[in-house]
Amino acid sequence: MSDYGLLVDYEYCTGCHTCEVACKQEHRIEAGKTGGVRVIELLQELPGGSLDIINMPILTHLCYMCAPRIKKGLLPACVQHCLAECLKFGEMQSLVQEAPQRRKAVIYTFRYDL
Ligand code: SF4
Ligand code: SF4
Repeated sequence: MSDYGLLVDYEYCTGCHTCEVACKQEHRIEAGKTGGVRVIELLQELPGGSLDIINMPILTHLCYMCAPRIKKGLLPACVQHCLAECLKFGEMQSLVQEAPQRRKAVIYTFRYDL
């Protein structure tokens, strides 16, 4: 099992894209290119005609879980800047225990080579 992970409580993701901007600024990724996270918007018409919107932050292959920041005792940049507090970084054991308390959540795993 990976040692650390990122729990995404996507029920509360507003689709503000601040996590994308924070990641790109932290890792100096130029404008127009995708960084370590990309927020996908999924629109779905429900029975009865109402429209449901899901915003889902997806970690890309460029995400290395902010290893230099973690070494310094900081949070990953995306977690630090998510105003909705729907991103949580931590040890996998505690995230796995916490996930079932959320209504809509996913966990991304990562193993550091620090
Ligand atoms: S995860 Fe947070 S910062 Fe990223 S789009 Fe959702 S609410 Fe905004
Ligand atoms: S953990 Fe770091 S590298 Fe990964 S998406 Fe968040 S800010 Fe980008």
